[in-house]
Amino acid sequence: MTLPVRPAVLNSPDYPFSPVDAPIKLDQNESFADFPDRLKAIALERLRHLPWHRYTDLHAESLSEAIAAHDGWSASGTVVTTGSNVLIALLIQLCALGGRVVTVTPNFALYALDARLLGASLTEVPLRDDASLDMDAVIASLGASQSDGPHGVIYIPRPHAPTGSLCALDELERLAQACPGWLLVVDEAYHHFAPDDARELARRHDHVVLLRTLSKAWGLAGLRLGYALASDSVARQLRKLVPPFGVSLMQSVCAQVALEHAGYVRERVATTLQERERMATALQAHPTWRALPSHANFLLIRTPDASAAHAALLAQGVLVRRQDSLHGLQGCIRVTVGTADENSAFLRAAGLGA
Ligand SMILES: *Cc1c(COP(=O)(O)O)cnc(C)c1O
Repeated sequence: MTLPVRPAVLNSPDYPFSPVDAPIKLDQNESFADFPDRLKAIALERLRHLPWHRYTDLHAESLSEAIAAHDGWSASGTVVTTGSNVLIALLIQLCALGGRVVTVTPNFALYALDARLLGASLTEVPLRDDASLDMDAVIASLGASQSDGPHGVIYIPRPHAPTGSLCALDELERLAQACPGWLLVVDEAYHHFAPDDARELARRHDHVVLLRTLSKAWGLAGLRLGYALASDSVARQLRKLVPPFGVSLMQSVCAQVALEHAGYVRERVATTLQERERMATALQAHPTWRALPSHANFLLIRTPDASAAHAALLAQGVLVRRQDSLHGLQGCIRVTVGTADENSAFLRAAGLGA
C-alpha cells in the first residue's frame, strides 16, 4: 500500500538534527546560562495562583502587549506562536502556497525544508565567497513583473545563520523597494548580538515582517516561544492561520516574568560579545582554522576537515555543529559562544592553550 501522504512530504528529508551527549554543549546557539532561578521561582508562584482549567487568551493578547511594549512595536502587529520556527511555515501558508519562496544559501535549514514540504517553488541564491549577501542576485531572482502579488515569501536571516554576517540595512531597504507583492521576512533570531536591527525598515514597509524568538538571548529555548513583528494589516491576516489558544498559560506566564526582568538578557549579551571577541582573537593563532567575523552568538569556522575537527573536539568533551553539508561550507563547523570556562575548554581542545 502506498501511504496517503503528499509526495512533497514523502520525498522530504527529516529535520537535520541528531542529539549528541557531551559535557560541553556548544552546538545549538542556546544561551550559555539557564533562565535565572529567582525568575523561575516567581513564574512558578504566579502559575500556582492562576486557573489551569480555563482556556488562555485566544491569541496570547496579554503576552503580545508585553512583548510589543518591550520591543517598541504595536500589540496589534505582534503575533506570538510556540517558537518562531512555527511562523516560518505559517508565512509560507499565508503568501506562498502555489507560489515562490526565495532565500539564500547556505542558510538556516527550515526555510527551504518548509518551502518544499508546502509545495512552494524554491529559489536559493548563493552567498558570495566571502559569505556576503549578493542583493543584486536576490533582486534579479524575483523576476520581472513585480506588481500585483502575492508572489511569495523572501527569507533573509539578519544576522545571517550560520555565517554570522550582517547585511547592510540600506541593502535590505533596496530589496524591500524592489519586491512589492512579496512578503519580505527578516529573521532576527540573533539581533541582540548585532549593532542594529530592522525595525525602522519594517515600520516603513507593510510587506516587511520581522521574526524574533525567546530561544537564544533570552535563554528560554525550552519554553518554545517566538513572534512576528508585522504591520497591523499583515498581522491580522496571519493570526487567522495561528492555532487558537496555542500559547499555553505556562509559556505566557514565564515569558511575562522574563520581560519584566529583561536586565538579565542585557548582561548576558554583553558577556557573549566579549567572549565572542576573545574566541575570535584566540582562533587567529590557529595554524589552519579560520573563523568568519560574527554578529551573532556563534562563530563559523572553516577547517581542513569538518568531520575530523568535530570528532577531535568531541573526544575532549566539546560538542560543536558540523555545517559542511551546506552549500559552499566545505570543512565548516559552528561553535556557540558559551560560558568563559566552556569557551576556554573549546580553545584548549582546538590546540590553542587558553
Ligand atoms: C534558532 C533560530 C530560530 C528559532 O527558533 P525557535 O523556533 O523560536 O526556537 C529561527 N531562526 C533562526 C535563524 C534560528 O537560528
